[in-house]
Amino acid sequence: MGAAMIAEGIRTRQTVIDAMLAHARAALPEECCGLLLDCDGVIDEAIAATNVRHSPTRFEIDPRDHVAAIRKARATGRTVRAAYHSHPAGPPGPSATDAAEMGDPSLLYFIVSLQDPAAVHAFRWEGGNFSAVPIVPVP
Ligand SMILES: [Zn+2]
Repeated sequence: MGAAMIAEGIRTRQTVIDAMLAHARAALPEECCGLLLDCDGVIDEAIAATNVRHSPTRFEIDPRDHVAAIRKARATGRTVRAAYHSHPAGPPGPSATDAAEMGDPSLLYFIVSLQDPAAVHAFRWEGGNFSAVPIVPVP
């Protein structure tokens, strides 16, 4: 992924944004998590995963779900571009826990906050910190 491309934002289908919000609500009171597939520069599918921590403040994607997402991406000419998780009662920015447990710096991280108003924000990991990446919704 090119830095210039990221600076312009990450194009994301509105259906994917809606799916992440719905998953976050369905998983309450726990954090939800999942992976996002990229097709030619557009995030076009959210794959829900099991949060093996079953926690309201932490998440860990079930490795089996991660492998399944990679296989699905490969089989359909796409890539796993990002991971997502929710903050049931927290703000939409990365928490200290998120930074401490950041798993894969090649992924973007989407965070769904269910604080009022519910919102989805994206971040990338760079130089030991998260920086915001604009989400550009596409139909
Ligand atoms: Zn978090």
